[in-house]
Amino acid sequence: MNLILLGGPGAGKGTQAKMMIEKYQIPQISTGDILRAAVKEGTELGKQAKACMDAGKLVPDEVVIGIIEDRLKQADCQKGFILDGFPRTVPQAEALDKTLQKMGSKIDHVLSIDVDEEELVKRLTGRRTCKQCGQMYHIIFSPPKKEGVCDKCGGELYQRDDDNEATVRSRLATYNQQTKPLIDYYSKQELVRQIKGVGSISDIFQKIVDTLR
Ligand code: AMP
Repeated sequence: MNLILLGGPGAGKGTQAKMMIEKYQIPQISTGDILRAAVKEGTELGKQAKACMDAGKLVPDEVVIGIIEDRLKQADCQKGFILDGFPRTVPQAEALDKTLQKMGSKIDHVLSIDVDEEELVKRLTGRRTCKQCGQMYHIIFSPPKKEGVCDKCGGELYQRDDDNEATVRSRLATYNQQTKPLIDYYSKQELVRQIKGVGSISDIFQKIVDTLR
């Protein structure tokens, strides 16, 4: 099963993808995670991406398309994959269609997770992530037992550089202008399923499972 998760920043794509990995035994491919790892390692790619990411803007299409083409060739994607944060523009979606076609494959479902914009701002500015295991928290909605420390592994929690309010507003504007048109793009292929992204994490997950049944 080849899936795309669409939705604004903070809609819960990453959280739901992590739960879907276990249920469907297919990998999550997050261009955001790949780019953050490159920034951390200080590679050429990371240096190029950091300025765009800090400004809440998109990294150039050719860069992320190259990343995805390489990733989809890896053996663990044979059974399927969950794309989280890619595609984000129409040219990225067109490139993905071509790449999959060459591989004799295609997208099966596009899940669009719908969340109100002011809710997204609240979620993102309060978000904290574990440096060690990637577990996510929210300082108000789902705080760790001990401030700044991961409940699961004891790792240190940090706030992503781009989760401050100014960058969040810019990311939302970028989403509205460049990524929302993908709902139309995939609707024409009759692939879009809308999921209301409010309620508990497990309720939303259940809606996804029901939709994919
Ligand atoms: P995310 O973790 O998905 O919110 O991505 C964080 C940042 O990485 C975005 O704000 C962009 O700057 C960059 N990024 C991630 N995925 C893409 C993509 N498909 N196209 C362009 N930029 C991306």
